[in-house]
Amino acid sequence: MQAASRDTNADDEHDPEGATIAFERQQLAAVLESAEATQRRLEEALARHARGDYGRCRSCGGPIAPGRLEARPGATLCIDCAR
Ligand SMILES: [Zn+2]
Repeated sequence: MQAASRDTNADDEHDPEGATIAFERQQLAAVLESAEATQRRLEEALARHARGDYGRCRSCGGPIAPGRLEARPGATLCIDCAR
């Protein structure tokens, strides 16, 4: 087993070069978490669209500017309420 692991790059404890495997795993978990949050926001936006209230501010009930929806399709607040 020692001989087999000697040639791999899996020794994250003693590799002076670059990031450790644990760090890269953490980075990947953060990217995955962010992608899942984006997916949830977009699925909620699709549900609002299906109900017919997509683009309507959930705080004041006014319209959300098209430019804001273009930049942030999952936006639930108009620019004034978001401030
Ligand atoms: Zn608003």
